[in-house]
Amino acid sequence: MSLSFKLPAIFVGHGSPLNAIEINEFTHEFSMISNTFPKPETILCISAHWETFGTQINSMQNPKTIHDFRGFPEELYSIEYPAQGNPDLAKRVALSGTKEHITLSEKWGIDHGAWSVLRHMYPMADIPVVQMSLNVNMTPQEHYQLGKELVKLRSEGVLILGSGNIIHNLRLVAWDMLGETGFAYDWAEEAREIINSRIMNDDHRSLIDYRHLGRSVETSIPTPEHYLPLLYILAQKDEKERVTLFNDKHVGGSLSMTSLIIR
Ligand code: ZN
Repeated sequence: MSLSFKLPAIFVGHGSPLNAIEINEFTHEFSMISNTFPKPETILCISAHWETFGTQINSMQNPKTIHDFRGFPEELYSIEYPAQGNPDLAKRVALSGTKEHITLSEKWGIDHGAWSVLRHMYPMADIPVVQMSLNVNMTPQEHYQLGKELVKLRSEGVLILGSGNIIHNLRLVAWDMLGETGFAYDWAEEAREIINSRIMNDDHRSLIDYRHLGRSVETSIPTPEHYLPLLYILAQKDEKERVTLFNDKHVGGSLSMTSLIIR
C-alpha cells in the first residue's frame, strides 16, 4: 500500500537491557518520539544483536521474544513482547530485487535490541515487527546500499528502525559510573563530536569509512555490529529531510545513547 506520506526513520541507542524495565530519561524519549508521527503498519528493525552469514529476514507470523543477554535480573527474562510478525512484508523485501540476496528465516524473533526499546515506543505491542539481520560479510558500504534499497518501504507504512549504540566499548565501561549519566571518557566524547558533526552535515561518506576517522572513533567502535544499524538509517535520508538527535548522552564512560530521527 502506498501512503501519501513517508514515515520517519529512526536509529536508537538501546544501551543496557535494563532500559526495558526502567523508566529513565532515555526511555522517556523513546515513548515520546513515537507520538510525533502516525502509527506505522509494520516496524522493520535492524538490530545489532542479529548477525548472520548472508542477510536474513524474519518471516514468522508470531516471532518469539528473545532474551539474548546474561546476568540480568530475573524480571527481564520473563518479559514478552508479543507483537505479530508480517510474513508478507518479509517476503516482499526478500523478493524486491535488492543487490544483496535476502533469505527468509524462521529462526529468529524479536531480540532485546528491538524489544527493550519497542516496549517504550509501542507498549501495546500492536504493530507487527519484522527483523532483518546484519550480514557479517558485508562491507559498511554494502550495508548502507542495502539501506537505500529499503527507502521505498517508508511510503508503504513501514517504520525503519535501527538499534545499536554508536559508541560502544563494553570492555572499557566504567561500571561504577553507570548511574552517572553524561560521564564520558575523553576519547568517547571526542568520537561523539566527530560522528555527530558528520551526521548533521550529511557526510555519509566518512561515516561509511568510519575506520578512517581516527583513534577516538576506533576505540569507540571496536566491533561493527552496534554501529552498522546507523548506516541503514542514514541511508534513508533524502536531501529535503532533516536529522534530529535525541538521547545524545553517554553512559558508563564508553557507551553513547545517541539516537536520531530522520523526517
Ligand atoms: Zn546491544
